[in-house]
Amino acid sequence: MAKEELECSFCGRKKPETNLLIAGLDAHICDRCIEQAHGIVLEESKQNDNSDLSAELKLRKPQQIKSFLDEYIIGQDTTKKVMSVAVYNHYKRLLQTPSNDDIDIQKSNIVMVGQTGTGKTLMAKTIAKMLNVPLAIVDATVLTEAGYVGEDVESILTRLLQAADYNLEKAEKGIVFIDEIDKIARKSDNPSITRDVSGEGVQQALLKLLEGTVVNVPPKGGRKHPDQKFIEVNTENILFIAGGAFDGIDRIISKRLNMQAVGYSASMSDDVVDQENLLQYIIPKDLKDFGLIPEIIGRLPVLTHMNPLDAETLRAILTEPKNAIIKQYKKLFEMDDIDFSITDGALSFIVDKAIEYKLGARGLRSLCEEILTDAMFELPSSNEKKLNVTKAYAEDKLTKTTLKKLKAVS
Ligand code: ADP
Repeated sequence: MAKEELECSFCGRKKPETNLLIAGLDAHICDRCIEQAHGIVLEESKQNDNSDLSAELKLRKPQQIKSFLDEYIIGQDTTKKVMSVAVYNHYKRLLQTPSNDDIDIQKSNIVMVGQTGTGKTLMAKTIAKMLNVPLAIVDATVLTEAGYVGEDVESILTRLLQAADYNLEKAEKGIVFIDEIDKIARKSDNPSITRDVSGEGVQQALLKLLEGTVVNVPPKGGRKHPDQKFIEVNTENILFIAGGAFDGIDRIISKRLNMQAVGYSASMSDDVVDQENLLQYIIPKDLKDFGLIPEIIGRLPVLTHMNPLDAETLRAILTEPKNAIIKQYKKLFEMDDIDFSITDGALSFIVDKAIEYKLGARGLRSLCEEILTDAMFELPSSNEKKLNVTKAYAEDKLTKTTLKKLKAVS
């Protein structure tokens, strides 16, 4: 065939009418047809993505989501239930097709209130694991208003991009866990005295992100820089979960409950209010009184609380979750053919010390580490193939000094 007779086998355009004509075995394709075909491929893969999503949705009803959480997290039933529904609805929202009924499903961003070490991060991590989506964990305390020392709120999305290996599509369906959201509460009731660049200013900057917008994100993080190329990230389908201890919010709740009780019989309020765990009565207004601006509260419509961990829960955390601490040590020793066991007395001793020294769930691991380090150092090179940790053994390894040391770092 003469060169000038070459044409695209798809659209029939002659070579001179194309910018590029690529030859195959016995056919040719022009640049325009390649672009069109590429569009079809993208469209198809998007549909497949959505059908993956709808299959997942069929597979995981709220009750199944909760069962999954149950495997990794002890207790916290209310939050698990609330989270399961929020995540389920989030999925439904991703699947909704544009319709003209004017009903737009709002994002189910979540705010979790609870003391540190009660499993807030674990909850976000477990949900991300279940959904197989990227998760970015960020600390609200490092954020400042644009232009001030600290990180811009866009850095949150840089983290998410990194967690998604820079796969934009994945990042746009990811989860962001914003820890210590309480630390960006408004510092005083009078916002105008000094500029509150790490408090209300950051809350304002977060608003758009939470709601859904397209943000120019510096892929490497750090400050925005005029020469840097940006990646456009749409936050429309990113699920935001905020967590915080909100120290002192119990006083706000208590005050509100007492005020409500005025006019009712006083004894009634005493009967029903569980003073030990006031967080369970939390309502959005309490967050506002604490210093979150109403717009932020509106964009975190799902509010839930974490219960403090009692001895029974701490003990269950040691042994029950799928990757419980004790199960991990057992596996570590097994790799050296060492049969590891621990008595009930020793477990209770560890829990008692965690409570006595206010180490919480996070302290359980450090306590175990202190007790077992000698054995993990010595046993692999000895002939001893058995380790039974009793209360006496644990007591012997945990001196007062190590306990003080643990308390200092916790
Ligand atoms: P938070 O984010 O509330 O400060 P984390 O989620 O970081 O707390 O929890 C601290 C540690 O305690 C983690 O290692 C976690 O595995 C463990 N933990 C806390 N609460 C629970 C729980 N309810 N079930 C299982 N493990 C828990």
